[in-house]
Amino acid sequence: MSFKEKPSVYLVTKPAVNWSQIANFFENENVPPIPDSVRAGDDESAAVIEISARMCYMSYGRGRRDITDFINNLLSSGDGSVFEHVNYGFIVTGVSRSLTHELVRHRAGFAYSQRSQRYVDENEGTFVIPPALASERQSSTEARQVLDEALIHAAESYTELVKALENSLPKEMFESNTDRRKAIRQAARSVLPNATETKIFITANVRALRHFIEMRGAIFADWEIRFLAIEMLKLLEKEAPLLFGDFLIEDLDDGTQITYPKFSKV
Ligand SMILES: Cc1cc2nc3c(=O)[nH]c(=O)nc-3n(C[C@H](O)[C@H](O)[C@H](O)COP(=O)(O)OP(=O)(O)OC[C@H]3O[C@@H](n4cnc5c(N)ncnc54)[C@H](O)[C@@H]3O)c2cc1C
Repeated sequence: MSFKEKPSVYLVTKPAVNWSQIANFFENENVPPIPDSVRAGDDESAAVIEISARMCYMSYGRGRRDITDFINNLLSSGDGSVFEHVNYGFIVTGVSRSLTHELVRHRAGFAYSQRSQRYVDENEGTFVIPPALASERQSSTEARQVLDEALIHAAESYTELVKALENSLPKEMFESNTDRRKAIRQAARSVLPNATETKIFITANVRALRHFIEMRGAIFADWEIRFLAIEMLKLLEKEAPLLFGDFLIEDLDDGTQITYPKFSKV
């Protein structure tokens, strides 16, 4: 059995532009060649947005001073649909089942693949300590002892339940060993708490990510998901500063952080 106190967040997929195909498109449509504004540095995410937004008016090579000006104009006018063309993928581990239950409420623009408690054995018993009970706050307090005891007990109950079901569920009921194992684990997981660690692959577009970060980075959000939203934001700010740079991060007296955007609900 082990405890985790912080998630690991990996930014694993990001947008890429096929520039030779874009060049072909410009040439075939007789519009100006790729403007410098579209080739702004390594940030291809912003280029995807500029190319898709300019499709509406076939305004390639015209208008705004540069890509920063162009993106800020879209953000400030709430012209958010073009931000749906840009997707990022994250692998997140070391988060609790209660966090992912909140996370998957975000539907529009999100895709998820989460570790299954029916297929994967939970005997290893890894649990996520809620931030209010983490070592830096309460390593040896009564509250922490209550939590630790409850988690140890839950892990033991899971193991005992798996063993008991292995002895009692008739093999003839199932077509395969895999089906039987699944039936055992899906029943045994009923004693696992919200704190049980899980792993999840999240893909989302920029419009959806901005909404998620705004909702879950706010002071009203649970500390655990708030921490995750801000970790994702920090990675995204590095990767795509034009698309996420308007979010401000503030330190609170309780040691946590919140974030809020200049341009809300784009
Ligand atoms: C602090 C906090 C506390 C919460 N407490 C609770 C709680 O006690 N109980 C509870 O059940 N939930 C709770 N929630 C979850 C909340 O109600 C939402 O389900 C969740 O935040 C997902 O947000 P969203 O609906 O904006 O969805 P997203 O799927 O992220 O959608 C983004 C936007 O797309 C639009 N959209 C998406 N789907 C539809 C649709 N079907 N029809 C029309 N428009 C759509 C909406 O404009 C929506 O805002 C809480 C959330 C927060 C942040």
